[in-house]
Amino acid sequence: MATYHSTRSRTAQLSAKEAIRRGIAPDGGLYVSDELGQSKIDLEGLANKDYFELAREVLGTLLPDYSADEIAACVDEAYGSSFASDEVTPVVDLKGVAGEADQGNAPAYVMELWHGPTSAFKDVALQMLPRLMARTSANAEGAADKIMIVTATSGDTGKAALAGFADAPGCGITVFYPEGKVSRVQELQMSTQEGANVSVCAVRGNFDDAQSAVKRIFADRELADRLAAAGVQLSSANSINVGRLVPQVVYYFAAYAQLLRAGKIQPGDAVEFCVPTGNFGDILAGYYAQRLDLPVAKLIVASDKNNVLFDFLTTGTYDRQRPFYTTTSPSMDILISSNLERMLYYLADGDCELVAGLMTQLAQGSYNVPAELLAKIQAVFGCGWADEDQVAAAIKDCWDRNGYLIDPHTACGYHVLGQVPAASDAKARVVLSTASPYKFPRAVAGSLGLFCPPDDFACMKVLEKATGTVAPAQLSELQQKPVLHDAVVDIDGMGGFVEQAAAKL
Ligand SMILES: *Cc1c(COP(=O)(O)O)cnc(C)c1O
Repeated sequence: MATYHSTRSRTAQLSAKEAIRRGIAPDGGLYVSDELGQSKIDLEGLANKDYFELAREVLGTLLPDYSADEIAACVDEAYGSSFASDEVTPVVDLKGVAGEADQGNAPAYVMELWHGPTSAFKDVALQMLPRLMARTSANAEGAADKIMIVTATSGDTGKAALAGFADAPGCGITVFYPEGKVSRVQELQMSTQEGANVSVCAVRGNFDDAQSAVKRIFADRELADRLAAAGVQLSSANSINVGRLVPQVVYYFAAYAQLLRAGKIQPGDAVEFCVPTGNFGDILAGYYAQRLDLPVAKLIVASDKNNVLFDFLTTGTYDRQRPFYTTTSPSMDILISSNLERMLYYLADGDCELVAGLMTQLAQGSYNVPAELLAKIQAVFGCGWADEDQVAAAIKDCWDRNGYLIDPHTACGYHVLGQVPAASDAKARVVLSTASPYKFPRAVAGSLGLFCPPDDFACMKVLEKATGTVAPAQLSELQQKPVLHDAVVDIDGMGGFVEQAAAKL
């Protein structure tokens, strides 16, 4: 069943399994399916469906070559015991948000996406991806039978991918993170990771440098040939992989189902989602949900001070040549937002040539979308951003107003919700909470005006005491774990590091 092809060309048609196994297309494009939205999710009876049932339906629809039994097994393995909430992604009420914008008749909610093993939203997808990957196979004669996952992380992907792939059969995983640009907790989460098949390495550079280098590694034919000779094929766990994107579509339906069950909305009511955004994967999944028939009023892109997406969505010009800011929301410190390419593909009605042209221009520095395309994009996506002072103020306001603690990424969403007026038909506004506040204890405690000791773990204690909340054990226990990975390389050394890691498989 050939259903997926590159955003930049239609010549090669792949099954979903092949697309997941490869990660990124050889021409640098991302895998998309023209069938998106042809089969819808039945909204009848949505209120009675739990996360597992919704996951089976959404995955079954978007990944048609997996059997129902395979999907069911993947869903049970991924979510059966690794999430600390029966809802998997619970929705909680807010009393209100700060800001000038008219909230209409749409009360605000938060969907907590961080109850998985690494306390960030990426667990939802990265607990699933290895199970999906395990059910693909090398079908071509003489094809590599081992997969090396190579991932650049701005902080959270790395740990979530390590947790998902550690000791996964037939797989190795190599994670690169920008040295000194992730939080202490994030760094320890990665450097203490156990598993015979894992490699972790700091890179001298920022996230965009590391991500661009990973893309070059994927495009390096000679490296690929050397690895193939050793029976290893590279693949990606970044959100460019469809196997990461698709599991994220599920929780948009799950949020809607929970609001229905709680009597907060009626069937058919439109809901807005406000999403702290970096690589555009999370919010793109919301667009997929809309294509599958979920009544979405608007998808609001919330950025931090690296507001390249805000500029793009308001002017139609995407310009990556701008200062890079290191903020308290490192997972959103991104200037090249990879999944935007998929959005452009769909809203340009599948015009591969246009997309390929824009991406060539982006490699040079910037591009401009036609006015007509911009208008279509703006009909779906709203936008806003928060600077560092606004993030800190949002954390404090949310605590004072709601007695509810949020991390700096979620705080961007909370701030933006107060700045962007509700769509006239919206009956609820849901901020996606993408990380536990305890992943960023220093920034959170500082925003509340608490005294922060130099050590992040002491900071967690201060936060627990002042708020009566409890840090997830998987975070507070990190300080007792031995550091197992301490390699640092330059950007140019990343390819060599991958080869060494592959040799150990
Ligand atoms: C990755 C991440 C984001 C950004 O998600 P994208 O899918 O890259 O847009 C936001 N917040 C946190 C905590 C993250 O880990």
